[in-house]
Amino acid sequence: MPTDLDIIKQLKQSIGKKLPRLDKLEWGSVGYVQNAHHQITALSLESNLFLCCLKELPPEIIKLQNLTRLSLTGNQLSELPPEIGQLQNLTELNLGANQLSELPPEIGQLQNLNWLNLETNRLSELPPEIGQLQNLNWLNLERNQLSELPPEIGQLQNLTGLILKKNQLSELLSSIGKLQNLKELSLSGNRLSELLSSIEQLQNLTKLYLSENQLSELPPEIGQLQNLTELYLSENPLSELPPEIGQLQNLTELKLDWNKLSELPPEIEQLQNLTELDLGWNELSELPPEIVKLQKLTELSLKRNQLSELPPEIVKLQNLTRLDLPENQLSKLPPEIVKLQNLTRLDLGINRLSKLPPEIGKLQNLTGIYLINNQFTQFPKVLLALNLEVKWDNYSTVGLHVEGNPFQTPPVEIVKQGKQAIIDYYAALEEQQPLNESKLILIGDGGAGKTSVMKRLLGQPFNPQESQTHGININTLTVTHQDNDIKLHCWDFGGQQIMHATHQFFLSKRSLYLLVLDSRRETQVDYWLKHIQTFGKNAPVIIVINKIDENPHFELPQPRQLKKRYPNIKQIVRLSCATQQGLSELNAAIQNTLPDIELLNTVFPAKWFNVKTAIAEQAAKTHFTSYEHYVDICQANGVTKETEQNTLINFLHDLGLVIHFQDRWLRETNVINPQWITEAVYTIINAPQLAGNGKLHRDALTTLLDNHTYPVRKHDSILELMRKFELCYPLNDNEYLLPGLFSAQEPDFAFDDGNALHFILEYDFLPNSIFTRLVVRMHRDILNNTYWRSGVLLRDQATGSTALVETVAEQKRLMLSITGQQQREYLAILLFILKDIHRSYSHLTVTEKIGLPDNPDYSVSYAHLLNLRQHGIKDYLHEQTNQAYQVNTLLGLVAPPTEAEIMPMLQKIVNIIQAQGIEQEKDLLDHIDDVVKVNPAFFGLSVDVNALVRKLFKK
Ligand code: GDP
Ligand code: MG
Repeated sequence: MPTDLDIIKQLKQSIGKKLPRLDKLEWGSVGYVQNAHHQITALSLESNLFLCCLKELPPEIIKLQNLTRLSLTGNQLSELPPEIGQLQNLTELNLGANQLSELPPEIGQLQNLNWLNLETNRLSELPPEIGQLQNLNWLNLERNQLSELPPEIGQLQNLTGLILKKNQLSELLSSIGKLQNLKELSLSGNRLSELLSSIEQLQNLTKLYLSENQLSELPPEIGQLQNLTELYLSENPLSELPPEIGQLQNLTELKLDWNKLSELPPEIEQLQNLTELDLGWNELSELPPEIVKLQKLTELSLKRNQLSELPPEIVKLQNLTRLDLPENQLSKLPPEIVKLQNLTRLDLGINRLSKLPPEIGKLQNLTGIYLINNQFTQFPKVLLALNLEVKWDNYSTVGLHVEGNPFQTPPVEIVKQGKQAIIDYYAALEEQQPLNESKLILIGDGGAGKTSVMKRLLGQPFNPQESQTHGININTLTVTHQDNDIKLHCWDFGGQQIMHATHQFFLSKRSLYLLVLDSRRETQVDYWLKHIQTFGKNAPVIIVINKIDENPHFELPQPRQLKKRYPNIKQIVRLSCATQQGLSELNAAIQNTLPDIELLNTVFPAKWFNVKTAIAEQAAKTHFTSYEHYVDICQANGVTKETEQNTLINFLHDLGLVIHFQDRWLRETNVINPQWITEAVYTIINAPQLAGNGKLHRDALTTLLDNHTYPVRKHDSILELMRKFELCYPLNDNEYLLPGLFSAQEPDFAFDDGNALHFILEYDFLPNSIFTRLVVRMHRDILNNTYWRSGVLLRDQATGSTALVETVAEQKRLMLSITGQQQREYLAILLFILKDIHRSYSHLTVTEKIGLPDNPDYSVSYAHLLNLRQHGIKDYLHEQTNQAYQVNTLLGLVAPPTEAEIMPMLQKIVNIIQAQGIEQEKDLLDHIDDVVKVNPAFFGLSVDVNALVRKLFKK
């Protein structure tokens, strides 16, 4: 006769796995336990990583007659052999998570069994013999397919726990009522539509789980279950509860979520031992008043009901630690809620709250508060007293959750920095208001009707003899948009060409442009649209085709393509200022475009508004004030950071309240009243004595300008500003020249371009001011006063290189012809200065070309030549002429440049830039850097320009 140990050996062999001896068997372990007599008393063959799945019961097991505990959980047993009945000593049998579809009747022979787990199998019925298990204490049949039970189940007189969760039971047998010792009965997840009154016989029941059934009512007898502590009725279609529920005096947990309750019986208040009550997902439209009498409640859930208010009496629930109220219709909370001092978690997500009781911070035990998806338009700052981390995820069960509200969420960087950064962010945001103010710029040829359009917009009458605008008219138009009064400062310019040179200071980004075209004339639509793009970037444009009373049939050619080329065109409106036809369309177009104006979408902190008011007053009074004074005003209003001051002055500039210079080295000069300076400049440039020569004597200002508005002491500042605009340069102490007013007549002069280096810049749009600004910057090099409206002759005194610079407006070209030993260095200087000028225009496209020395009518791309040189390709073959050239010759680079050659050139660039008023080494380097960055090889000379410039300063 083999011993138990022999059998274990055989078993090991037949399953082919290790089977360790254990001191004692714990569920989940694998192995066996033996007693002092070498008898095997417990065996576990649970499937885990250690053991592969058993498909059938190893026959050796049946021979282990001393077994009291056997676990075969998680295998793939599909049947139990009848021999199982021989294991007469078994007290615990665990067969959970197998594939058993039936049990052999012999199971009834296991007379000592008190614990039987058959959870998660495929049982659709039980053998009547199950009733013979007279010692059975605990029977788990969770997750099988039982649709009925044998009546014999009622014989299990010792059963204390019966788990029938997740089966298909549609009715309960009355014999269940015989299970007099039952303490726990789980029937959740079945198909029960009614509870039999015999349930009342289960007098010892403490836990009854009936969730996920189809109970539409409960029998009054439920009240007899006097020992119940837990009653789960979640997910049933209960629409009311019997009053007898109040008799369940020992109940501590009651789950009623996912039912159809619209009220509770008043008797509920008798459940004085209740600590947890779940009423989520019901149809309660108010808090049943009795609930506040449940003094022991610690957890109350009213998730997804229809509560629109919470009664102040909620404060009576002094033991509440958790209150769940998400998905209701709460628009306010009673202030008393702050007295629920034991609350650790408060969920108010998905309600309609826009305010919180100011003392919410007193809930100092809160570890989590949810306010997601409510209607807070401002971050509820009162919450910051709670000392909780602000969370921006949905998962944490702790912290402050406020996502999904209409207030602005901070940028990620801020969130990452933590709570203080978020607090600062909201503090700054809270005091902000929309600016509701912007600039509307009327632009177009002189005589197109800009002034007339503005007057019509302002509701003023039409004047058929409108006189030409000198300088600028600024008026404020108020439009109403979404209940806000929006102020548009309308700027109406006079049309002189030379004034276009000042446009970079007046045509701001973030504004609205009205391009006024005269329908009688061949128009320069492209010119103006480019102009706007160049200075106003992507600011919205409305095209106004004016004077349609005189030419009703005028149409813009190909408006669709125009809009494609200039996507910032928002609308094209046809208008007659004379008859007002189209005026309402124009007003509507302005209304429609408001949301596209960047300034209108800007919010201003309150202190910025204060600075704005102060500086506007100052500008109106003194016209001209120092940047230091502006900084003082900022300081006085709490705008203390330099970066903030810079940002703000930019806004004020774009708003048209002041003029200041954005370039860093000019910025810290002055803040000026735009109207004041423009009037002065207009008057000066329109003075008859300047026409055709561009010569301005300082003394002339006294007679030209109004002495009251422009007293003599301001004249220097005006001239200084005109230099900053690069409208003029000083000839001597008292005389200035304005290149924009030079004679159009080309003078006689000699220039031998035999060996000249021909360089051409081709622009898609050539603002007039590029040439005049170049003349202003290079004026020291002007040779023998050889200049005219579109050309200038320059000579570099040090090297004797000579350059002829001409603009060809029709071809939108700038042509540079340079002669002399160091022509390429002089070219580099001129190109540097031009590129520096280009930087103040956006959207400029410039193609650079080199003219063939023997055939300047033909040219080759400069970039291409630089490329060839970089790749070590020495020759260039010109396509049209079939002529071969040396790349280096074309570039004027016969030998690589030496430092000695480059240094003077750099010195000169530095001088020119310094003359603009940039004196700091750092600013200068920045400046040079900005240009060089665009062209890293620095015009084909591979040198470290910064190192050389630094050297210049060391000298
Ligand atoms: P601005 O130089 O662009 O400001 O143009 P103005 O507003 O000064 O107008 C130039 C001339 O055109 C004036 O004589 C106006 O009376 C006239 N004018 C402006 N709009 C219209 C219009 O819609 N119809 C007619 N017939 N004349 C207009
Ligand atoms: Mg006008």
